[in-house]
Amino acid sequence: MTDPFDIDLELSDEEMHLYSRQILLDGWDIEAQEKLKLANVLIVGCGGIGCTSAELLARAGVGKITLIDADSIEISNLQRQIAFSHADIGFYKAEVLANRLRQINPHIHVESYNLKLDRSNAAELIKMQDLVLDGCDNFSTRYLVNLSCKQHQVALISASAIGFQGQLFMVEGDAPCYECLFPKQDSTSEQQDNDALRCADSGVLATTPNVMASLQAHHALLYLGLGLTPLKQKLLLWDGLSMKQRIIQFEKDDECPVC
Ligand SMILES: [Zn+2]
Repeated sequence: MTDPFDIDLELSDEEMHLYSRQILLDGWDIEAQEKLKLANVLIVGCGGIGCTSAELLARAGVGKITLIDADSIEISNLQRQIAFSHADIGFYKAEVLANRLRQINPHIHVESYNLKLDRSNAAELIKMQDLVLDGCDNFSTRYLVNLSCKQHQVALISASAIGFQGQLFMVEGDAPCYECLFPKQDSTSEQQDNDALRCADSGVLATTPNVMASLQAHHALLYLGLGLTPLKQKLLLWDGLSMKQRIIQFEKDDECPVC
């Protein structure tokens, strides 16, 4: 494992070779690749979203990835959570995913926590990140991640998927936040209903979280390597039956307790 304080700022010959198809890109140079190498990203949730976005970031060369998830792997996860196999059932998701990322790319540093992100650890975990990718499966964690990212001025890209539908949005800098988009007080009863509306109860097609996670990881690379924020203040809605995508701009809520 690479010591995070021992990371060479410049890309080695082997890393240049590993990332050559990216570095060859028009509009993606060595500087963009080095920015990825220096980036710290926290991934909240190692389920259908987190498995895929974590793997793509690891392959693309994000230098430090931290994973957090309290759950262990169950047989019903294998249909969509692409990092896991039958032999992993019963083991912690965060740990198994971390080991997989280390195997995929030995040039990056990976940390994992077999914990639920909560009020006791959110600030400590989030404040030193360059970006947080949220792929959690419940609303209370999503509100907490949004709050903590805002408090510590850390960019957030949040993805979710249920059934055939997916959502993606970004919160960055002074832009409106998740609570501007979906105020908490308005949705308390709805939120409780929705908290039950999870894959465990409502079902999800194998591909839906993987589509959303790929879009989330793609946006993460644009942000970390090139400083682009195409979904800042925007909500992307993807419908997996019609294959249609809509992008809606949302505004700051003057009453938002977070902003
Ligand atoms: Zn807000």
